[in-house]
Amino acid sequence: MPRKMTRATAHKMFERLSEAAPAPQTELHYKNPFTLVVAVALSAQATDEGVNKATKTLFEIADTPEQMAALGEKKLGDYIKTIGLWRNKAKNVIALSHMLIDEFGGVVPQTREELERLPGVGRKTANVVMNVAFGQPTIAVDTHIFRVGNRTGLAPGKNPLEVELGLEKIVPEEFLLHAHHWLILHGRYVCKARKPECWRCTIVDLCGFKEKVLSADKPKPAKKAARKVKTAPKKQVASKPKLRAAKKRVPAK
Ligand code: SF4
Repeated sequence: MPRKMTRATAHKMFERLSEAAPAPQTELHYKNPFTLVVAVALSAQATDEGVNKATKTLFEIADTPEQMAALGEKKLGDYIKTIGLWRNKAKNVIALSHMLIDEFGGVVPQTREELERLPGVGRKTANVVMNVAFGQPTIAVDTHIFRVGNRTGLAPGKNPLEVELGLEKIVPEEFLLHAHHWLILHGRYVCKARKPECWRCTIVDLCGFKEKVLSADKPKPAKKAARKVKTAPKKQVASKPKLRAAKKRVPAK
């Protein structure tokens, strides 16, 4: 596990992330707080791109709780069938539309407690809605933020809540509002799950990850190369210079 990042380093990290994307925004398409709640609820275990495809037509005919409730579970299902777990999600979206009409006058509430009462809305969804729709400095920890928080040492934690609370403590106040988007974008496009692209990472010197990937064409582990030489003697001559060349490309730490 990397050493916990200091406040000063965290400050530098967000300075750089903010320079790269001064006004980051969610990649989910929405028209108003209600459609944002729906889009985020649909995005669990699905890609933003997949959700956007499905909601493009849906939000043209239903962008209020009343219109969504009138659509009903079956018809809504027809629009979102391409999204994973769509049956359960359709059920929740119709139920939350009814609750918004019956208990909140058709208006999306702004507090965590109220948002979390809506069917299918958990802490993460509530945080996204509070941040994106209502400008509150919340941080919704998804898979990308969880990974970046742990790898870098910014906010190590065993579960999303631990990471979220760690981030609330260490992220400098001036960066709190957009921290959620900067970390998601960084995790999605640079600090990728399988192969982090450390060689082009703007915070490489601040990050505490011990297994940085410093070259786009990372050489194969020496063990495998050695095994290949043993079983295929003919390739022995070719594999040696390849290995040496690859080693040269790795910059000194
Ligand atoms: S240096 Fe690598 S591990 Fe660290 S944040 Fe950048 S991409 Fe992620």
